[in-house]
Amino acid sequence: MVNQRQKFCSIHEDNSCVMCNTGADETIEHLFFICPFARQCWTLINFNWNLSLNMEDRIKDAKHRNSQHFFTWTALIAAWELWKIRDDKIFGRHDVCINRWVTNFKSQCHLQLIKFKADLRSAFCFWLDAFSVRLSELWLRPPYL
Ligand SMILES: [Zn+2]
Repeated sequence: MVNQRQKFCSIHEDNSCVMCNTGADETIEHLFFICPFARQCWTLINFNWNLSLNMEDRIKDAKHRNSQHFFTWTALIAAWELWKIRDDKIFGRHDVCINRWVTNFKSQCHLQLIKFKADLRSAFCFWLDAFSVRLSELWLRPPYL
């Protein structure tokens, strides 16, 4: 699907992933799970995917192992922000940048808070704060901290 759209639009004729320099074909599997950039993003938010499983079972497995009630939302936001980073690279707006992904991820999480029930909202905010502390302990210091 990804490559079909690219070919249709004649934007990115090379089928290789624009998020990394591995030369891997840009498949959904690569873009969201195997790409080193995607793996770095998932690691930052402490998501671990069992890559030996097919995609459906992988998501079920991760959801089962993750006790957060907002797991699905978080995964969707993270994947959406990966997609936007990819589009920004293809359309020449920005280079691939982990700090921008983090900033956009947190910003999108805050935007989505309105959809959460109050008790889940506070748990989500607590998780986001912990995530921010974890980032500050690493080498990332996004401008929103
Ligand atoms: Zn890649």
